[in-house]
Amino acid sequence: MAHSVSSKLIRRIQAYGAFDVSACFNCGNCTAVCPLAQDRGGFPRRLIRLGQVGMKKALLADEDLWMCFGCGECSKTCPRQADPAQYLGAARRYVTSCYDFTGISRLMLGSAWGQLLGFLVLSALFTLLLLHGGGIIDPKAIHEQALFKFLPGPWIHAIGVALFAIIALSMLTGVASMLWRTCGRHLREAPGSLSLAALPAALAASIGDALAHQTHRRCDADQPEVPWFRRPWLIHAAIVWGFLGMLAATSLDFLFKPIGSNVPPWYPMRILGTISGLVCLYGLTMAMVRRLRAVETPYRSSGFADWFFLLLLTATVGTGLATEVVVYLPTGSVVGPLIFLAHVVLAMDLIVLLPLSKFAHAVYRPLAMCIHRWATAPVAQPAAQPAAI
Ligand code: SF4
Ligand code: SF4
Repeated sequence: MAHSVSSKLIRRIQAYGAFDVSACFNCGNCTAVCPLAQDRGGFPRRLIRLGQVGMKKALLADEDLWMCFGCGECSKTCPRQADPAQYLGAARRYVTSCYDFTGISRLMLGSAWGQLLGFLVLSALFTLLLLHGGGIIDPKAIHEQALFKFLPGPWIHAIGVALFAIIALSMLTGVASMLWRTCGRHLREAPGSLSLAALPAALAASIGDALAHQTHRRCDADQPEVPWFRRPWLIHAAIVWGFLGMLAATSLDFLFKPIGSNVPPWYPMRILGTISGLVCLYGLTMAMVRRLRAVETPYRSSGFADWFFLLLLTATVGTGLATEVVVYLPTGSVVGPLIFLAHVVLAMDLIVLLPLSKFAHAVYRPLAMCIHRWATAPVAQPAAQPAAI
């Protein structure tokens, strides 16, 4: 199929934080050193080439872009200092903005001011909305009753459900766009691929990979000098596992615990939430410390989008843990409801920004893994006919 070429593509990707890859002279060193290049047809050099020659459609239809975990090996060894790892990060931000039909992620991911402004506007909106439904600080009320007098549970629930519906719709359009482009490419290049029979296995393997970080571990295999607790895959896994644990605790709380009822600290969902929050906070802290030190390649080229996401998640988890402490104070306090308000507003910001920020990789990367496994699954051959006698 003929691809249209855009001479502006590389400049557009650069606007999302890429180094000038025009220095790349296509030597293939990055492909030789990348621990994930096997069976991926010249990855990552192929993707750099697509940007250089302006093949936007081909770039949007290539799920391998999401396979890179930013280990930085390619940038470390690039003879032209073209920083392919940073290029791939910027290309992912660019592609995310292209998958989003609203155009908001272009504003959010393409400029630090856009992200900051979007965050402030959303936070102000949610604060006003939440206070509109409650806002009563009762100094006599203690524990969770005080919090849910300030922000009534049904009101939080109603706003949360509406947000989930809007965001699910927005994320689904992004997912549909990615599926349409990537699966369409595979079907054009290999008409017999993507058999329905191979889908369940590809799906199961990709969910397992996303949870156990098998592919990410391959990136770290060449760094035996890094202690296990500082390994990038473990830091990332701590963030993912902690986040999923908190999500599970919140959902179970909502399903089984009457809103505003007081429970002891050893209540199972509270224990799950607290441990998950601490695990997530460990991962976030390590990720930020390594970025601040900026001596190890995976974190050398952090952009505003990376910092914004990490800080937003840290603030959400931090205020959640602080709220847990506040509910066990012996007396009522003004500070408790305000911390709770901050936590709910930040959690809502996080939900809304899922399809529009770096957070979107939590959906696109596992999906890319699944598409890749599905497309490369061996095609079952029809059983041989017995020879006629
Ligand atoms: S190693 Fe550098 S110069 Fe060589 S192909 Fe990769 S990005 Fe280009
Ligand atoms: S950053 Fe690591 S995983 Fe990504 S392309 Fe470079 S070497 Fe491969």
